[in-house]
Amino acid sequence: MNRFVLVRYGELALKGGNRAFFEKTLRRNLQHALRRFPGARVEKLRGRLLAGPFENAFPPAKALSRVFGVSSVSPVLSLPAGSGPEEMEKGARALVEEWLEGRPPRGKVTFKVETRRADKSYPSTSAAISARLGAALLAAFPALEARMKNPELQVEVDIRSEAIFVSTGRIQGPGGLPVGTQAGGVLLLSGGIDSPVAGWLAMKRGMPLQAAHFDSYPYTSRESLQKVEDLAAILASWGEGLRLHVFPFTAVQEAVKASCSPRYHTVLFRRMMHRIARRLALETGCPALVTGESLGQVASQTLENLAVIDQAVDIPVLRPLVTFDKQETVDLARRIGTFDISARPFPDCCTVFTPSRPVIRGKIETALEEEEKLPWRELLEESFRGREEKDFPPTGASYTH
Ligand code: ATP
Ligand code: MG
Repeated sequence: MNRFVLVRYGELALKGGNRAFFEKTLRRNLQHALRRFPGARVEKLRGRLLAGPFENAFPPAKALSRVFGVSSVSPVLSLPAGSGPEEMEKGARALVEEWLEGRPPRGKVTFKVETRRADKSYPSTSAAISARLGAALLAAFPALEARMKNPELQVEVDIRSEAIFVSTGRIQGPGGLPVGTQAGGVLLLSGGIDSPVAGWLAMKRGMPLQAAHFDSYPYTSRESLQKVEDLAAILASWGEGLRLHVFPFTAVQEAVKASCSPRYHTVLFRRMMHRIARRLALETGCPALVTGESLGQVASQTLENLAVIDQAVDIPVLRPLVTFDKQETVDLARRIGTFDISARPFPDCCTVFTPSRPVIRGKIETALEEEEKLPWRELLEESFRGREEKDFPPTGASYTH
């Protein structure tokens, strides 16, 4: 049980009290991410955190590499401070053996040893230690081949005054800030590609989320709702869990369709969604909304239309994807594990409700006039009262690099 996970974190710009708060929240979130590993503790080193002990550090390292605020993690073997080269060699051999086992047997593996000596009193130079370990590993494993530039396997030795850590490379973390270092937001979560990515980016800046979905049953199917639940589960697995609030929205859409100018249908739906989400935000103590809107992507998302939508609410609407190209969003959706779910063929908002020529440069006055034709306050109340909630714990699908 001398296996640990070394956790590196960034955001060096944070200073003073902010930094202490960041570290405390990060530690709590890491500890939370380790709940499947009984007995594991997260300790503070200088500028790093150390989690363990573990029998095998790879599964917890994967779990910790999904925590926002983490820049990278390494599964490490911990040797007592001052250990000699024989112990390091033994440790490195054990780690490399495990690493090779976890990899399909094919051809040579390029590798190098990189030593860092934070403890300058250690009686040997970094270069000498790297050379000695490299030679020992080459002799022990015929599959290895030394390469200094971009090796497949990098054995790292970190000589510190508390301990000596030996590791076989890093797993990239998501970066950002720990969830809980900002106030929360209500994410308007559709079954599409964009909104889950927008939610992930908001969480990455430290925001815990509540998710709001507007359901057009029976115009949309049960499978559409399942998609949204599956997306919520993935988002929950990246953060500290998530509550999904599903609001019945069919009555709103039918009323808008029956009474208002077709060109304004989409922006009017959006204004109602934002109002309902704002109500939820007030109830749950969230000062902002988050949506997957992006400038110019569809007719409803021109700057004028976004202004018409914003006018319906008095809290900030964050749009993390506002400057993204579709391909950038798709790439990120694949990385965070939501793309395949979003790509399932069930529509999230029935085509019955999509006008053929939506307004491109919407006007606030016209939207207000159109809304006067609706009992929109009652519709808002009715939808808000009809909501159903579902909690998603912070577990879920695995992260693939
Ligand atoms: P997405 O892929 O997120 O659906 P989109 O590019 O398809 O985005 P729209 O469908 O026009 O764009 O929706 C814009 C934003 O409005 C969404 O990103 C989401 O935040 C919100 N939204 C749309 N429909 C719903 C819904 N049924 N429930 C909750 N939020 C929704
Ligand atoms: Mg959509």
